[in-house]
Amino acid sequence: MKENKSDMKSILIKNGNIIDGTGNPWFKADLLIEQEKIKEISRCIKDCDANRTIDATDLIVSPGFIDIHTHSDHTILLGEGENALTQGVTTHVVGNCGFSATPPINPNKLKEEDYDTFKLILAPILAISEVESKYQRLNEYLNDLKQKRIPINIIPLIGHSMLRLNVLGLDNRVPNSNELQEMKDILAEEMEYGAFGMSTGLDYPPGSFSETEEIIELCKVVKEYNGIYTSHFRGFGIGLIRATKEAIKIAKTGIPVEISHFKPFGFYFGDIKKACRLIEKAREDNLDITFDVFPQASNYTFLFALIPPWVYYTKEKLDIPRALDILKQTKTDNDLKNKIYEEIDNIVESFLKIKKQEDWIKVYIDAPNRPDYGGKTIYQISLEKNIDPREALIQILIDVKGSANATYLSMSEEDNIITIAHPLSMFASDGQIIPEENDKIFPNPYCYGCFTRALGKYVREEKLLTLHDAIRRMTSFPAQKLGLKDRGLLREGFWADVTIFDHRKIIDKATYENPRLYSEGIEYVFVNGALAYDQGKFTGALSGVPLSRK
Ligand SMILES: [Zn+2]
Ligand SMILES: [Zn+2]
Repeated sequence: MKENKSDMKSILIKNGNIIDGTGNPWFKADLLIEQEKIKEISRCIKDCDANRTIDATDLIVSPGFIDIHTHSDHTILLGEGENALTQGVTTHVVGNCGFSATPPINPNKLKEEDYDTFKLILAPILAISEVESKYQRLNEYLNDLKQKRIPINIIPLIGHSMLRLNVLGLDNRVPNSNELQEMKDILAEEMEYGAFGMSTGLDYPPGSFSETEEIIELCKVVKEYNGIYTSHFRGFGIGLIRATKEAIKIAKTGIPVEISHFKPFGFYFGDIKKACRLIEKAREDNLDITFDVFPQASNYTFLFALIPPWVYYTKEKLDIPRALDILKQTKTDNDLKNKIYEEIDNIVESFLKIKKQEDWIKVYIDAPNRPDYGGKTIYQISLEKNIDPREALIQILIDVKGSANATYLSMSEEDNIITIAHPLSMFASDGQIIPEENDKIFPNPYCYGCFTRALGKYVREEKLLTLHDAIRRMTSFPAQKLGLKDRGLLREGFWADVTIFDHRKIIDKATYENPRLYSEGIEYVFVNGALAYDQGKFTGALSGVPLSRK
C-alpha cells in the first residue's frame, strides 16, 4: 500500500481476484476508482497516478453487498454503520415488515388508549422511541438523510402498516372504500417521491388486520410505478403454506414479489419443501416471485408470540395494557394461571419443540428497558429466579411492560439449508444498524453476521454454494429485484460500492449469547468511492446516499 496524495480522489486496487456479481467465477484484474465511480477494470492498469494503491493479491474484490431486508429506517442516522461495514454491506433496504419512517402515525386516528400498545409492542420492532414521526412524507425523510450524512446507502420501501396507522389507527377492521382510496393516494404520493415499493408485516398489527384484497388493491398502485412488493407474510398467523399461497395470489396482479425471511416459523408450522415447490410452480406460471433468508436457524419476533393470543387481542384490537393485567392476575388466580400455562405449553411445543424446562434455552430475550435480561435465555432467568420457566416468561413481560423481543431457535438446520441453497433465494439480514455507543441493545446475531456467515460457514466450510454464486445472491440478484441499474455489479461507470475480503478467513463471530461481535475477514469497504472500512478501522467517511426509484 502506498499513499502519495491526501485528497483521495482515486484509488487503484491491484491484483485482486474479481468476482463481479454476475455469478461468474473470479478473474484477475485491477480496478480503478475515481471519485464516486468505478473508472476502469482491466487485467493490468499501468501508469496510473492514483492517490492510493491497495494490494489485493489473494483477496476477493466484489461489489458491496446489498441487504434487501433491514430495519435501519431510524438507526441509519446513529453511528457509523460498523455492524454493516464489517459484513461488507454497503446498502440497506429499509421500510420492511410493514413499518417505515413515512407516512407517520396519525395521532388523530390512534386512540389515546392505543398509544401504550403502539409504544410497547410496535416501536421496538421499528427501533424507534417516539410515536410521532417527524417526517410527513418520504421526500422529507430522504432529504434529512442527505443532509445529516449516513454511512451506507439507503433504499426506501413504504410500510403497509404505516398506511393503515395513518388512515385507520390500530383499528381491527377492513377499510371502507374512502379509507382504502386514501391509503392508495398516500402510497401513490410516496411512490412519486421515489419509494421502491411497499412492504407488509402481516403477522403484526395493524397489518394482520388486513385482508388479501386490501394488499392487492395497494399493489396495483405500486405496480403502476414499477415498484416491488416485499412480504413478511402470515407465516406465524396461518402457517407457511397458506401464507405462501396468499403471496402467490398477490403476485397475480403482475407485481414482482419478494418474500422476506422465508422460513418456517416453528418446527411444526409448515413444510418448507412444499412451500418452495409452490413458488417454483408460480414462476412456471409466469409470476415473478423470489425470496430472501438470513442463514441462521432461528427467528426473531416479539415475546408475546409465546402467550395465547386471546390474552393480548380483543375482538377489536391488540390491547397490551389489558394483557398485562391478565398476566398479573395469574399470581393470585390459580385457575387462570393453570389455563394460561397449559396454553403456553401447547404453543411452545408446536413452535419450539419445548417439552421440558431445559428446552427453554431456545428463547433469548432482547429487552431494551431491562438490559439485565438481555441475551439471557428464559431457562437461565428461571434458574436465577428459582421459578418455573412459564412464570419467568410472564414475569419478564410484566417487568418490561410487554416491550420485549426474542430470538427463537425455532427451526431445524435441515430446513435452514433448504432455504439457503434454493436457486430463488438471496441473503438478507432482517437486522439494522446498531449504534455502537448504546450497549443496552441486545440484538439478534443477524445484525452482525449474516453475509459473513453465508460466506464462511455455508460457502467455505460446508460448500453448500460456490463463492461466486453466494456473491451474486448478495449483489446483482437483489439489485435486479430492486431495479437498480448502476449498482450490484463491478462495471465501469457503476457507483464504486466495493468490498474486498479474504475468503479464507471470512466468518461471523456473533452468537446468540454475544451478538455484538464483529465478523472477521472483511478488509476494505468502499461506499460510493470513499473508503469507509480500512483493515479494521472505521474511517467515518459517511459517504452513503439515500436512493430514490427513478
Ligand atoms: Zn418480518
Ligand atoms: Zn423484518
